[in-house]
Amino acid sequence: MNSTVMQGNSGSPDVIVLGGGIIGLSSAWSLARAGLRVVVVDPAGAVARPRPGATWAAAGMLAPVSEASLAHEPLTRLGTAAVQRFPDLVESIRQAGGPDPQWRRTGSVAVAYDSADRDELRRRHDVQHRWGLDARMLEADECRDLEPALDPGVAGGVLIPDDHQVNPRRLVAGLLHMLTRVAGVEVIARAGRPQLVGGRVEGVRLDDGQMRSAPVVVLATGAWSSDVCPVRPVKGQILRLRMSARDALLRHPVRGIVAGREVYLVPRADGELVVGATTEDVGLDESVTAAGVYELLRDAITLVPGIQDLELTETLARCRPASPDGLPLIGRCHVPGLVLATGHGRHGVLLSALTGDAVRDAVLGRPQDDAVTACDPGRFTDPVTLEGRAA
Ligand SMILES: Cc1cc2nc3c(=O)[nH]c(=O)nc-3n(C[C@H](O)[C@H](O)[C@H](O)COP(=O)(O)OP(=O)(O)OC[C@H]3O[C@@H](n4cnc5c(N)ncnc54)[C@H](O)[C@@H]3O)c2cc1C
Repeated sequence: MNSTVMQGNSGSPDVIVLGGGIIGLSSAWSLARAGLRVVVVDPAGAVARPRPGATWAAAGMLAPVSEASLAHEPLTRLGTAAVQRFPDLVESIRQAGGPDPQWRRTGSVAVAYDSADRDELRRRHDVQHRWGLDARMLEADECRDLEPALDPGVAGGVLIPDDHQVNPRRLVAGLLHMLTRVAGVEVIARAGRPQLVGGRVEGVRLDDGQMRSAPVVVLATGAWSSDVCPVRPVKGQILRLRMSARDALLRHPVRGIVAGREVYLVPRADGELVVGATTEDVGLDESVTAAGVYELLRDAITLVPGIQDLELTETLARCRPASPDGLPLIGRCHVPGLVLATGHGRHGVLLSALTGDAVRDAVLGRPQDDAVTACDPGRFTDPVTLEGRAA
């Protein structure tokens, strides 16, 4: 074990994790599993629902192949490595008697509405092929064979067999279950800030003024880390609808391009249908707008007309923590004792289990997996400014 971790006073934790979204909770679980004494600090405490943060909004697509052509190769490699961490995590939750996180290999179908959209899908398919990923072009009638509810106008598609999905809310509940009931981790229902003494982190100052000491602090506050890290909030609006559980409208997640615009529809086994998501550079704003809901429903109904009869059960907006180069910041930084785990953008659920293990390795001073080295915060000149960043 790294000597920094051994310095905690008896009774104080080895690590405090700031932030209880999917990244903070996954990190806390990997650290606790490695035998470290961990405390999590988040205003939501250990209450499983509802929670602040992007995780509560996320659709739960684990889709590195579908997203490949929208990303760069290091991010795709990170995503394909990340998917492989899920079986172990899901099995741990099962063994601990936690809720089923509904992790499934459903594959997904990407569809194009008009011929220009089909050209774009073909371009993406070429990238997927070049990177050795499994994706197969579909004719329009093959798309409708797979998904009979698609509009007859759909021009073609791509089948991606290796995409997975999970229910992020149930995954959070499963992690909280393991942390509090199996690992005995304390979850403090407060906000906090890393506290520096002589230039190194000595713990966390809670918003009631209390100080909690620890030799290592993990900063996993998602979009709220934008005041100290090179991360910016990117707003996403998302909808939930209810299908008939007996007669699901869709069998696979469907990702559509409609006149150049992106929309996705993720059906769950319990009848929930998630439709997302907008991408808006408007700062830390969680308001649901008429335009956001209209645009998502318009494009979803264009692809799957039967949606107009479904009950709309939830509208929500949350902010993704986006980094300048699309890769998260994971690892130690120039402030001794501070480990960063933020900037996961639109892939935080996908990258959660892998990030947890990478945080554990950073805390313990172990070498990182090859795919994770690209996420070293040291690639930015000033990965954290704890006094606050200039706006
Ligand atoms: C609409 C939408 C759809 C998405 N769909 C997907 C998807 O399908 N697949 C996928 O992989 N990703 C998806 N994402 C992205 C994913 O949700 C995020 O990347 C991920 O949730 C980030 O997790 P996080 O733990 O870093 O941040 P968050 O989930 O935002 O959690 C941050 C936590 O920090 C806490 N916090 C803030 N300030 C403090 C403080 N001072 N002290 C203590 N705690 C604090 C907050 O209370 C919060 O709980 C989606 C995002 C959005 C918005």
